[in-house]
Amino acid sequence: MMKHARIILWLILMGVLVAGLVGLNVRPPVPQREFADIPEPASGVRATFVGVSTLMFDDGESAILVDGFFSRPGVLKTALGRVGPDETAVRSALQRLGLLDGKLKLLAVVTAHSHYDHAMDAPLVAKLTGAVLAGSASTRFIGLGQGLDDSRIEVPQAGDAMRFGPFRIRMLESLHSPTPWNDGHDGGMLTQPLVPPVHAAKYLEGGSFSLHFEHVADGRTTRWLVQGSAGYIQGKLDGLLADTVFLGVGTLGRKPTRYKESYWLETVTTVGARCVVPIHWDDFTVGLDEPLKPFPYWLDNVHSTQRFLRGKVGMDGVTMYWMNAWETLMLPLPVERADDVLM
Ligand SMILES: [Zn+2]
Repeated sequence: MMKHARIILWLILMGVLVAGLVGLNVRPPVPQREFADIPEPASGVRATFVGVSTLMFDDGESAILVDGFFSRPGVLKTALGRVGPDETAVRSALQRLGLLDGKLKLLAVVTAHSHYDHAMDAPLVAKLTGAVLAGSASTRFIGLGQGLDDSRIEVPQAGDAMRFGPFRIRMLESLHSPTPWNDGHDGGMLTQPLVPPVHAAKYLEGGSFSLHFEHVADGRTTRWLVQGSAGYIQGKLDGLLADTVFLGVGTLGRKPTRYKESYWLETVTTVGARCVVPIHWDDFTVGLDEPLKPFPYWLDNVHSTQRFLRGKVGMDGVTMYWMNAWETLMLPLPVERADDVLM
């Protein structure tokens, strides 16, 4: 299983390299903002996007980071070499986010799953900022492998709420986007500390999670969902509310319309979202010193994803916002329903 995954990852990355060298690395244009107007009223919570599913949420004082993947090793190193956190890249990103100079206090870094493009840098982020590392049992082994003290790692039971200052986070069991080598059900678990650098395929998935957030301040509650990978479990998010969904769309463009429809229904419609931000659409072998680029066309049809999302937005009256790296967005508050106002 492990060997199989490794060979396929190697073939994909070599494909990216060869396609790049011979000029076949056709990419769609960077997605443009579909609508610039964010629904009012805006909450005091700001989201900052840093590629893949790395997102920071802050209220001007404290912050939570999802994944915190900043190293983004290149194709050659990822395919042929071994990868680990790049401290210079991680420090520079944390500095730019205001997390090293006292502007913002990072309370926790929480991972959506344990693949290298999500969890590899999270323990270093925790070490450099004093934040708690939260995630699956596999994420814990990535933390221990990097020498993070176990007392700084939180592994919640799926569905349990974790509180960090004004933030409340729940990790809900979900599925990874189906890949050529598995159907999203079995990406493997780490069973011992993972000491970097190691081949990228050694970062086993360790289960995938929908991350549900609430921020409570001044009697106002802001709710949002981060879906790091384009997988879902039917009915799993029923009853949850989120005004904004950060929607993982990696490889969605290569999936049949039936799958796209179900994914939208289970992650956006079901939580009553009014604002959708597509994430995980960029080629994460390109460093953050360059603008984000979509996945190459032959790996993921980002155009097809854009067309599908545009259609859903038109029909469902949802605002969609494609963010580039370092862009920020003030999250909307729930709209008061007419019966709330009358009461
Ligand atoms: Zn993954």
